Amino acid sequence: MTDTSVFRAGLLDGQVALVTGGGTGIGFGIAELLAALGAHVVLASRKPEHLDAAATKLREAGGSASTVAVDVRDPERVKAMVEQVQHERGRIDLLVNNAAGNFYAPSEALTPNAWKSVVEIDLYGTFFCSQAVLPVMKAQGGGRIVSISMTLHYRGWPQMAHATAAKAGVDALTRTLAVEWAPYGVRVNAIAPGPIPTEGVRKAFTPPADSGIPDVFAAADAAMARYAQKSIPLQRWGTPRDIANTVAFLASPAGDWITGAILVVDGGEWLSKAGA
Ligand code: NAP
Repeated sequence: MTDTSVFRAGLLDGQVALVTGGGTGIGFGIAELLAALGAHVVLASRKPEHLDAAATKLREAGGSASTVAVDVRDPERVKAMVEQVQHERGRIDLLVNNAAGNFYAPSEALTPNAWKSVVEIDLYGTFFCSQAVLPVMKAQGGGRIVSISMTLHYRGWPQMAHATAAKAGVDALTRTLAVEWAPYGVRVNAIAPGPIPTEGVRKAFTPPADSGIPDVFAAADAAMARYAQKSIPLQRWGTPRDIANTVAFLASPAGDWITGAILVVDGGEWLSKAGA
């Protein structure tokens, strides 16, 4: 049972939320909370095995959920996804651009394909999905877009040129679309999570053996706890729920006057490393 006690029951009743990458990790945590607060949640990503299992869990918990297969790199598939949701649900109140890809790769050897793939998922995907939902949100008098960014580009992160460049683009896009689409009542914000040990991030952040980059996620639980105490001012790793709470806040009336914001939700991690 998802604990919703920090929010009013039924806070998002009647809303339709589209969450890309909603079948796993942080995206699933966001979907779980939105569904528990009364929204119908549409989970969108490439793999049916992610989507079906996640939608079943949401329904078993009493939520309302459906799925749509999409590769966010493909603008035609993205348009078809939005048409399907519009056809089935009649509206889209919230888009969460959460789908992303990432892996360590030294920039000097990064292949054009590897660069393209990550930039296309993280940045192009965010733009294609945002652009595709705009007509629906405009027609219904407004809506909310929340993109999941990161903090690694604030200080640079070795061997992640592709992802840091893409997420810096997501931040720029957030501010520009916020100003451009405010007259339509569409609020556009981003959340920059700190380290959250999802399955996906554990895979992405396994550095090459000879890179000298610490493999923090491979450490045993006790070592992970020590890392958090030393490196995260609030002394714990993040959870998908930390990010979900911020999405629900932005989706609620509390977010009415917030647009173009990039909310860092990281226990103070990046600030503590900024001068290191
Ligand atoms: P994750 O579980 O690997 O999530 C990535 C999701 O994106 C998956 O559900 C995947 O589903 C989907 N996806 C990948 N490529 C796609 C494509 N081409 N089209 C549609 N969907 C696609 O990892 P996560 O840790 O939860 O990350 C979620 C978000 O948080 C990402 O934006 C990530 O950059 C951000 N973030 C995470 C952390 C962290 O520490 N975990 C920190 C900062 C930012 P399919 O495989 O089914 O397509």
